[in-house]
Amino acid sequence: MENVVIIGSGCAGWTAALYTARANLKPLLLTGEQPGGLLTTTSIVENYPGFPEGVDGTELMMRMQKQAERFGAQTRYSAKVTKVDFSKPPFKVWLDDEVVETRTVIIATGASHRHLGVKNEELLERKGVTYCATCDGALPMFRNKPLVVVGGGDSACEEATYLTHFASKVYLVHRRDQLRASKIMVDRALSNPKIQPVWDSVVTDIYDASKDTVTGVQLTNVKTGATSTLPCDGVFVAIGHVPSTGLFKGQIELAADGYILCKKGTYTNVPGVFAAGDCVDRTYRQALTAAGTGCAAAIDAERYLAAQHA
Ligand code: NAP
Repeated sequence: MENVVIIGSGCAGWTAALYTARANLKPLLLTGEQPGGLLTTTSIVENYPGFPEGVDGTELMMRMQKQAERFGAQTRYSAKVTKVDFSKPPFKVWLDDEVVETRTVIIATGASHRHLGVKNEELLERKGVTYCATCDGALPMFRNKPLVVVGGGDSACEEATYLTHFASKVYLVHRRDQLRASKIMVDRALSNPKIQPVWDSVVTDIYDASKDTVTGVQLTNVKTGATSTLPCDGVFVAIGHVPSTGLFKGQIELAADGYILCKKGTYTNVPGVFAAGDCVDRTYRQALTAAGTGCAAAIDAERYLAAQHA
């Protein structure tokens, strides 16, 4: 029987592991299929306090893991949770056929990339359509080629700027005529001569599924309804995220859009089950705020366990 099982290995998960480990609870952290979470798909993190020169996203996560393990956190790699039962304690967490029983659970499953939902997107995924410039931008298929980045947030600006190292040109396609990204990211992207914004436009189709590779996109101007074709060799989708909470449907209360509903602090509607990070937060979604709520979830879990034994 575990005291604390933490599901997810992003900033929230590792911070929860650090705090519960330091409370001598020997937490078990299940990394999921993407150890380190979304931050490992970013390049340099410039806004995590304590790193004045910035820090590589993967390195930051490895440091967090090392720190948590130093105090006794147990790590299970690539442990994909297939089912949970929170109907009564002890809670059950399945890793395929294996069942882990635990007194408390901290859910820190984060979020995954939102898809455009247009024709041929799925067919051309990994054949020119991608959701991570840091992971795929340097591939030979994208070098010295025109590329499209879709989105208007920090991710889109960051990806577009990063891709200018490889691409001949980067079209930043956004559905409005104003970017949502922070000023520093906007300035950096729009002052780059290789980046050309395409305003008020959405991607409505991706070509060419019959050739099994990306040759262009169909754009639709949202103001005029006019459609046009923009030739390109890659489409980088950066239009935000959806919470990774499908596993918990019917087990804890979720909002209509899938985010976990916390009552007080990190308490879900099931006593003993806590949630932290991007699977809860649709407002701030920063590495730092995820770490902060991971800390809060650990403290809530520790106090919950102490009250059970009082
Ligand atoms: P985001 O801020 O939610 O931005 C998503 C963008 O995609 C918005 O511009 C949105 O348009 C657009 N969009 C959403 N759905 C769309 C659709 N179906 N079709 C076309 N466009 C669509 O997401 P994000 O950029 O991934 O950022 C997420 C969080 O991470 C933010 O809090 C951000 O600050 C943070 N972040 C920080 C950094 C950094 O500081 N280095 C880097 C990356 C991310 P509208 O603007 O019209 O809504």
